[in-house]
Amino acid sequence: MRRGPGRWPGRGLGVGLLVMARTLPAGTDGWPVGEQRLWSTPYGGVLCMPGGPLPGRVGGSGYVREVRTHASVLHLDLDAFFAAVEQRDKPSLRGRPVVVGGVGGRGVVATASYEARRYGVRSAMTTREARSRCPHAAFLTGRFTAYREASVVVMRILRAASPLVEPLSLDEAFLDLGAAGLGDLEVDTVTAFGHELRERVCAATGGLTASVGIGTSKFIAKVASDLDKPDGLVVVPPGTEQQLLRPMHVSVIPGVGPATAERLRRAGVHTVADLESVGAEELVRLVGKAHGNGLYRLARADDDRAVVPEREAKSVSVEGTHDTDLTDRTIMAHLLTRQAGEVATRLRKHGLSGRTISIKVRLHDFTTLSRSSTLASPTDQAAVVARTARGLLSDLDTSGGVRLLGVGVSGLADWVQEDLFGETEELDEEPETPLDPAPEARRSWAPGMDVVHEDLGRGWVWGSGRGVVTVRFETAQSASGPVRSYAVDDPRLTPFTLEQT
Ligand SMILES: [Mg+2]
Repeated sequence: MRRGPGRWPGRGLGVGLLVMARTLPAGTDGWPVGEQRLWSTPYGGVLCMPGGPLPGRVGGSGYVREVRTHASVLHLDLDAFFAAVEQRDKPSLRGRPVVVGGVGGRGVVATASYEARRYGVRSAMTTREARSRCPHAAFLTGRFTAYREASVVVMRILRAASPLVEPLSLDEAFLDLGAAGLGDLEVDTVTAFGHELRERVCAATGGLTASVGIGTSKFIAKVASDLDKPDGLVVVPPGTEQQLLRPMHVSVIPGVGPATAERLRRAGVHTVADLESVGAEELVRLVGKAHGNGLYRLARADDDRAVVPEREAKSVSVEGTHDTDLTDRTIMAHLLTRQAGEVATRLRKHGLSGRTISIKVRLHDFTTLSRSSTLASPTDQAAVVARTARGLLSDLDTSGGVRLLGVGVSGLADWVQEDLFGETEELDEEPETPLDPAPEARRSWAPGMDVVHEDLGRGWVWGSGRGVVTVRFETAQSASGPVRSYAVDDPRLTPFTLEQT
């Protein structure tokens, strides 16, 4: 197990908002699966609730927003992101079906390349099913560092274009064109901007393609970016939103997951046009009050949510990644308790305390979840942090396995100038305990991982088993390279990490 001080972006929370959640629907194109929906609130936080209520028109500060009259919200979504990064870095896989995700017995597909999608392979499908549909695909475990690095490059380009950038996940963000300093916001202007932005992203990332949608709201921009995937650009001219939405299935609306769609279907509501014909009261009766009001508005493309830039909250956190998925809840609770202790120690060392306790959990398919809870008063006590963290974990479904666990405390006093996350101090190596995964599992050669050989240089693991590891020697810059096999304990072969460059 690797351990160390971690950092993750925090979100400001409005008073009275007790639960914060942020999911990274890794590799899925379109809305996250299921009933959990995310909304940026007027407070700048992200509120997550079953069914996902639409925030009201009047925010905490009392201002009223209107739907925009210009197509000034842009949504950018990298195409088949994880798989595209693998194809970029592994020339022999370009143009071939690639599946990134859990490769073990209970693994799930995180992202499939478009070549694999042609065989019916989809995100969230079991790897077993994907193998039966497309047995000749390359099945790779993910390289999160490489994905994060590409994401940083893309987000930097977006932030250079507009100060109002709201990332949704590693490969997706909203951008407010109203703050981009364009001459005007007419359709021709924003279209030209969209083309240019896509070219910039492609050039800076070594050829990754992005799909872009532009419209008068987040909802419309997001729908639009999905219309011409991959490598597409769709601008929805102001005034044509409802025309676009009416023939679409209700599930296009954020907040309409399988359960809501089923409830609507039983009421004879299939398309957005059907939904539009249902009165507000009837909708509330069908799907509940908060949700019903939101649906009523979104069916009319009435979405005035602002693009809220990411803000980094001051916080202290500790996280650990695991080379094999953790599945035992008791072990996870122990790890959180230990991390809570480290966080509390760091807080006290700096004379700090905080009110918001968060946990971060990365699932086997790279979906990253954060959950937090805000206490009545600040704490620096390990037991309080640990108890809260364990409580937050108990609400999550971790049955598929967990790769990363972390605990953080935020809501620290404003006078703290120092960014504690920026510290590079090494935590003392934790002694090995029976809680850690078996040593032999940690030394495994996962398919797709980067390696370096003393004589042949850099390559990646094609596969391993029966004491043998097979490596293909190639990089993003090289031609498709040769394949060689070695004993798994060959001392000339070592895992390659970006720190070595
Ligand atoms: Mg994407």
